[in-house]
Amino acid sequence: MSGFPLPAPMRRALDLGAEAAAAGEVPVGAVITLNGRIVAEARNAMRGSVDPTAHAEMVVIRAAAAVLDQPRLDGCILWVTLEPCAMCAAAIGLARIATLNFAAADPKGGAVEHGPRIFGQPTCHHRPEIYSGIGEAEAAAQLKAFFADRRGVVDDAPNGSPDSA
Ligand code: ZN
Repeated sequence: MSGFPLPAPMRRALDLGAEAAAAGEVPVGAVITLNGRIVAEARNAMRGSVDPTAHAEMVVIRAAAAVLDQPRLDGCILWVTLEPCAMCAAAIGLARIATLNFAAADPKGGAVEHGPRIFGQPTCHHRPEIYSGIGEAEAAAQLKAFFADRRGVVDDAPNGSPDSA
């Protein structure tokens, strides 16, 4: 995988993930693009905003909707460094995100390729195009380093903790 330049939005999402880690948040970053341009970006902010729903995807969807001044994000692409959880996957469907690109899989908390597989449920009325693994190695390394640093701390972090080693 090394040697492949990452798409710029995923590169930015990974940098946002690193910012999250530096702020003591689980390192997840997200970017929304439309027609090749970044509309909004966010990182995990549950601790900082004292909001259990402040996952990077939720924050970036709200920001993009505000920027575009519309409740649906038709044609938008979401780039996120970790497989979305059930809450975020549902929000992605509600927002009518056209394409979901995520980096690392999250067997413990993910809900796209794991667990409830939200987009395969009959109650989900919009399924984006889904691509995984873009930037996976770096995203996984960020998460692993973050949880290694916190070893000994109770691991109750939402939004993924794929490092169960
Ligand atoms: Zn989430």
